[in-house]
Formats: sequence, structure tokens, C-alpha cells
Amino acid sequence: MIGMAGCSSPTPEPVPPRPAPAPAPIVERIVDGSFDFRGAIVQGGLAVGQAPAGAVSVTLDGEPTRMDAARRFLVGFGRDAPGTALVEARLADGTRVRQALRVVPRDWKIERIPSLRQTSTPNPDYERLRTAELARIDAARSGTSDATGWTERFAWPATGRISGIYGSQRILGGVPRNPHAGVDIARPTGTPVVAPASGVVVLAGPPRLSLEGNLLILDHGNRLFSSFLHLSRTDVQVGERVAQGQRVGAIGATGRATGPHLHWAMSWGDVRVDPQLLVPAMP
Ligand SMILES: [Zn+2]
Repeated sequence: MIGMAGCSSPTPEPVPPRPAPAPAPIVERIVDGSFDFRGAIVQGGLAVGQAPAGAVSVTLDGEPTRMDAARRFLVGFGRDAPGTALVEARLADGTRVRQALRVVPRDWKIERIPSLRQTSTPNPDYERLRTAELARIDAARSGTSDATGWTERFAWPATGRISGIYGSQRILGGVPRNPHAGVDIARPTGTPVVAPASGVVVLAGPPRLSLEGNLLILDHGNRLFSSFLHLSRTDVQVGERVAQGQRVGAIGATGRATGPHLHWAMSWGDVRVDPQLLVPAMP
């Protein structure tokens, strides 16, 4: 045999000189772009955004907001959010794509009762108890799960007469009270409450809290949480995964409630948003 494959040494090809690496850009490229949003860009609103192709990170008004593998992210606006916001994506090549959003203002139901003055007597025992309760709630909402409920279309956790709306406020004797942070649905004690979207249970009373009574908190992922107050009972345990429509508890009047109703509140990080904007009209 005359030689075998691999035995002959090939003549080396001349290696062309490598081009010098391009110098780093001095000015960042910032372009106006458009993101797609599903949801309401209004005070109290929450929307799922779709970042442009190639996006590696997104910010809302300079604050990082988590993006999933499909480049979806959340934006949320509080009751008193200013009229504009800026969403910006950074692409892999360093380009920044930004879009200014107009946050539509809303009119809030304000009830003034000049004759009624809120009186409160300091009570150290209660203050101590309340501090511990708020710490328990904060701890439940401090983490973030891989739940994908935040990408789903939400459903009512219970149906019935709406007896209180998000953003309404009472001014007693000239002193503004905290605005109502959720939506109230009046139904008899024992009416089932179902998960409005999938999630993970992060708090499930008892023990009852002094204002919220039996409280249930669901983590829908991406820092989005639902809270259900005044329940007569909870049917799920902390750590349990629940599907949309799954029964999680029952309406009650525990805690500070004048009658049986479900108070449903939602928060995205520290921003309280209006649950009613996420669901269809009450049937
Ligand atoms: Zn309420």
C-alpha cells in the first residue's frame, strides 16, 4: 500500500491576517420602537408586554422587570401613577429600544363625610400584633415563583354583586383614608372562591389576621400576587400549586368586615393594581 489516509502531511494554506476588532462604540444606539401590550395602560392597570426580537432585558421607568423566555414581561401602574411611563429593552448588540407609554388617568369615587371624624386610641398591644401580621404578609410576598398565571387571562374568583371598587376613597372629617385597594364581591358565607389564574399558595390562614381575617395569597409568578380576604375557610395549603378555576376557599366575614364578601386585591411588586381590569364584565 502506498500511504494511508492521514499519513501524508498536507501543504498548509496561507492564513489570512485577522481584521482588527472593531472599536467599542462611544455612543449607544437608542431607537424608538414599539412593544406589543395586552392589557390596560391606565392608572391601576396591568399589561403583559412583548419585547422586540433580540431583547435581553427590559426596564419600566428604569426599574428592571423580569422577562420570560418568550420575551414577555409585566408592567403595572398604581392608582396615582403619573401620566407617562417609559419602557426600554436592551438588545444583545447593546441597542436600546424605547417606547413612551401614555398612562390614562381615571376618576376615583371619593366620598366626603365632613361630620364624621376618625378617632383612634393608641393601643400598644394591637400595634405589636399588627406589626407581626404585616411582617407575615410581607414575607409571603417576598419571593417569586415560576408560576405562569401572570400570562393567563384572569377569571372572576367568585361572581356576585360588586359592593366595593378599587381606588374609591372616603374622607372623614377632612382626613383622607387609604383608598380601597381591591374589589369587593358580596355573596353569602360559604360561597366557593376559585383561583382566578394558576399559581402557588404562599399564605393560607388561619391564624386569622385582625383586619384581613382568614387570608389567602396566591403567587401568579413574576411578582404578581392575588389576596383574598375575610374567608370563612381556606381549602389549600402553603406550597400547593393551584390551577385556574380550582376551589381555594369560601367567602366569609372574618376580620374587619361588616358582612360576608370577598375582597380580592392584586399587587405587582409594591404596586397595587385593579383586579377588575383583568377580568371580563361581571356576569
Ligand atoms: Zn374591600
